[in-house]
Amino acid sequence: MKRIGVLTSGGDAPGMNSAIRAVVRKAIYHGLEVFGIYQGYNGLINGMIKKLELGSVGDIIHRGGTILRSARCAEFKTQEGQKQGIEQLKAFGIEGLVVIGGDGSYRGAKALTDLGFPCIGIPGTIDNDIPGTEFTIGFDTALNTVIDAVDKIRDTASSHERTFIIEVMGRGAGDLALWAGLAGGAETIIIPEDSYSMDDIKRRLLKGHERGKKHSIIIVAEGVMSGNEFAQKLKEATNMETRVSVLGHIQRGGSPTAADRVLASRLGSRAIELLLENRGGLAVGIEKNKIVEHDFSEIFRENHQVDLNMYKLSKELSI
Ligand code: ADP
Repeated sequence: MKRIGVLTSGGDAPGMNSAIRAVVRKAIYHGLEVFGIYQGYNGLINGMIKKLELGSVGDIIHRGGTILRSARCAEFKTQEGQKQGIEQLKAFGIEGLVVIGGDGSYRGAKALTDLGFPCIGIPGTIDNDIPGTEFTIGFDTALNTVIDAVDKIRDTASSHERTFIIEVMGRGAGDLALWAGLAGGAETIIIPEDSYSMDDIKRRLLKGHERGKKHSIIIVAEGVMSGNEFAQKLKEATNMETRVSVLGHIQRGGSPTAADRVLASRLGSRAIELLLENRGGLAVGIEKNKIVEHDFSEIFRENHQVDLNMYKLSKELSI
């Protein structure tokens, strides 16, 4: 293999730039030429492809977002779109591709591999919802952003003796809500992976009240319902007035944490090693602090699991 490509696709995540840098530098270190594909699969179909040098990825390890930009591309879900993509890659002499993104982006990468073009996936999403890895690039940074917000909201919640409902991202996964709730000392965490009981929440709030606690933080994962919807349900059940804070897209931005930069560097490096071994159809990940790889088909067979022991612990610590 002499030339490889790299693209970012789907929702952006902090640390994607650190991963691009690792891919480019490791590839050049091993004598490969690297091409950046701009705007995800959309740019692949349309030939938005440019050679990257060592300097092209200078000064980006600490920047949020992705210098290659990201996009969603419906056309790429068709075989026609995928074949067009392969034509573009061939026109540039590119023989292998690294795709940094989430589950949807992996499906595109698998489709290309099935058509004979080797691709490696790197998990980049704040949702931490990809099987085959304990952590995705961007999760740690988003978690720290949420914690920062929770700590600030706690100040005003306690000054005004209020109950706050904080809606956090995560799509169908509860990881961000769970980790943020545990790290931020939330009294209640509501995640899609487990049911909740309004009676139990009511009992907890009353118990807290009885021991003089007048404020409370409730974290709701967006995959369950919106913060406003939950506030309405809580009001119907308890007649309690609450304040709702929807953190929104700030969770996707910002400079990646050290943990995300290191993870991105390790995963990016492994992706290149695999392409150098002429292997494709794999996604890299981290398990027990070791870099691993799994077949895309294996990843699609599994469902992401949230750590329910941690969920139990969060309940035990917030009695
Ligand atoms: P993420 O990668 O963050 O999960 P999306 O689900 O939006 O984000 O997927 C990103 C892009 O991946 C889509 O816009 C599309 O171009 C491509 N993609 C998604 N699903 C498929 C599929 N089944 N086959 C081929 N390409 C897909």
